[in-house]
Amino acid sequence: MTTLPEQALPERAADAPRSTLLEHPTEFPHEPDLVAPDSRVVSTGNLPDQARVREMLSETYERYRDVQDGRVADYIPALAEADSGWFGLSLTSATGHRFSFGDAQLPFSIQSISKAFVYALVVQELGHVEVRERIGVNNTGLPFNSVMAIELNGGRTMNPLVNAGALATTSLVPGTTWDEKWDFIHAGLSKFAGHELEIDERVYESEMETNTRNRGIARLLESYGHISLDPMQVTELYTRQCSLLVTAEDLATMGATLADGGDCPITGIDVVDPSVSRDVLSVMATNGMYEASGDWLFEVGMPGKSGVSGGIVTIAPGKGSLATFSPPLDAAGNSVRGIRATRHLSNKLGLNLFASTVQ
Ligand code: GLN
Repeated sequence: MTTLPEQALPERAADAPRSTLLEHPTEFPHEPDLVAPDSRVVSTGNLPDQARVREMLSETYERYRDVQDGRVADYIPALAEADSGWFGLSLTSATGHRFSFGDAQLPFSIQSISKAFVYALVVQELGHVEVRERIGVNNTGLPFNSVMAIELNGGRTMNPLVNAGALATTSLVPGTTWDEKWDFIHAGLSKFAGHELEIDERVYESEMETNTRNRGIARLLESYGHISLDPMQVTELYTRQCSLLVTAEDLATMGATLADGGDCPITGIDVVDPSVSRDVLSVMATNGMYEASGDWLFEVGMPGKSGVSGGIVTIAPGKGSLATFSPPLDAAGNSVRGIRATRHLSNKLGLNLFASTVQ
């Protein structure tokens, strides 16, 4: 076990370049009484009845199973072995009912979807204000592994759901040793899923051999004083969190925990506070699909998070969560079948947060 030196969260390095831009400019000054949601007036509804949910999932599965578009990720060599035909759909309701079709029980590495859940655990520890100030909540408009996004923003991270912000978020995980930090992440993500998650060691090793770009991003953040742990150790922790194995069923349960104010509907365990769930869902809405987050919100109308192994988790607040798994990706790194299936189900199950009808 490596013992890490006691490290206070850093101030900006003395010689760090200064930006002429404001740091995370905001017109939203902190008002402490507005942090926790008022549970008497939250704006959520109900899923259609179970028979309708089952019928619509089955119909969606059949409708998109033969889609051939997209390409399986190969920049992490172990991911290239995925079968482009794999397709799983799963929905967990906020009341703990589960519906699954196709390859919903096939394990795959969680990849970027871990970012949303590690962010939740860090916000739970450090709070709404501090994490917002350190990491940011705005979209970069650039690919998930962009270095330009850091340079264009005065050396700061913009949001926790692209690699720079995710590395900085992982560096804030509590613990005095690498092992303690890893245990915190592993236990926390397992609580979201309702059971202990395993690691795909092959994917981990494969990405550790090729993740020079992420190491570069971590080093760049270090040069600006915006990472609070040794950059190589952060990259290792982050790569390990991305290698945790989940199924579409696990992802739907993890998402349903966020849909249910932070309580896992399968185990009943209180994983994070309702205000933390709300914060995570809002950054997922603006950043969960990287530079395509605007298209996603426009078409689907719900917070979602994708990963390069082909998973997407989408949350209908108060109702439940839908997870899809299909490895072929579009140019932004989002699952092609997953996008189409989720958009269809959003429409058919009345999940779009922005839809209303005349009273
Ligand atoms: N581990 C991957 C990476 O950092 C995750 C990227 C993703 O899923 N978009 O490159």
